[in-house]
Amino acid sequence: MTEEKKDQPKPAAKPKVPRQAMPEQNAKQRAKNFQQVTTGYTEEMAQLEASRCLSCKKPPCVAGCPVSVPIMEFIKAVKEKDYKKAVASIKSTNLLPAVCGRVCPQEIQCESKCVVGKKNEPVAIGRLERFVADWEASQGDSPVPPKPKKTGKKVAVCGSGPGGLICAGYLIQAGHDVTIFEALHKAGGVLVYGIPEFRLPKAIVQREVDYLVKLGCVLKTDFIVGKTRTIGDLMEKDGYDAVYLGVGAGCPGSWTSRARTSTASTARTST
Ligand SMILES: Cc1cc2nc3c(=O)[nH]c(=O)nc-3n(C[C@H](O)[C@H](O)[C@H](O)COP(=O)(O)OP(=O)(O)OC[C@H]3O[C@@H](n4cnc5c(N)ncnc54)[C@H](O)[C@@H]3O)c2cc1C
Ligand code: SF4
Repeated sequence: MTEEKKDQPKPAAKPKVPRQAMPEQNAKQRAKNFQQVTTGYTEEMAQLEASRCLSCKKPPCVAGCPVSVPIMEFIKAVKEKDYKKAVASIKSTNLLPAVCGRVCPQEIQCESKCVVGKKNEPVAIGRLERFVADWEASQGDSPVPPKPKKTGKKVAVCGSGPGGLICAGYLIQAGHDVTIFEALHKAGGVLVYGIPEFRLPKAIVQREVDYLVKLGCVLKTDFIVGKTRTIGDLMEKDGYDAVYLGVGAGCPGSWTSRARTSTASTARTST
């Protein structure tokens, strides 16, 4: 047996606690409204679900997460009812847990690697992530961390989908000045105009956008990079040191290609 295998706890053939089902509106009720179909775990359900995690020493679930959320740590914090710690743990690598806890395809990512899933249903990592994020929202406004030391650098983030929002969040916390330019009248990208309300409420996305503005990001909507201003304008005339292109895959032939015809050599793209 390899050292790594020796370190891993063995999943029980029959777990004491089954995977907790996600409560949802019944079909007759939800046919008459646009509210979320799933209503989220109660604290009791979250505790039961968290108790199913084996706290693996080398958690394979993390390898299945594209942003390497410290899953074992955050679930341990849930077990300890230290939800504040659980939020901080998730947010150390993922600034959008309320969004990802709802729409990430966990079943083919982290949960597909969960040790418990070898013999039983895997730990419901996504549902726990959503529980933690909703707990945070239920505590009122998220606290704003102390302002970082300014670097004096200005970054233009083009596009306010999840790619742009997360990039803006990390850059502002690193001390850069950040302006988000969004072509449409509302920020959020596909999160607002692609994913329906019953799956991801618009208010959840708006909360994340408002938080970035509270951290100091400037948001300019109805601003088409490539038309309102080119990347060249932004960098050569408006003083931006870098441009991040998080313009998604929605419009490859129009605004985006014009935005890219600029000479900006340091521009980055998320597409
Ligand atoms: C209908 C639909 C449902 C989906 N459901 C899921 C799901 O359930 N789970 C999941 O994980 N993924 C889902 N996805 C995929 C997910 O939404 C995308 O992977 C994600 O939104 C990509 O993020 P992004 O920030 O790169 O781009 P986007 O979300 O596309 O955001 C790009 C933003 O850039 C703006 N923009 C474009 N050009 C310019 C310009 N020139 N100047 C300024 N702004 C510009 C756009 O208006 C937009 O707001 C879904 C996608 C679609 C289309
Ligand atoms: S979620 Fe699964 S793989 Fe991850 S630490 Fe818990 S039991 Fe191990």
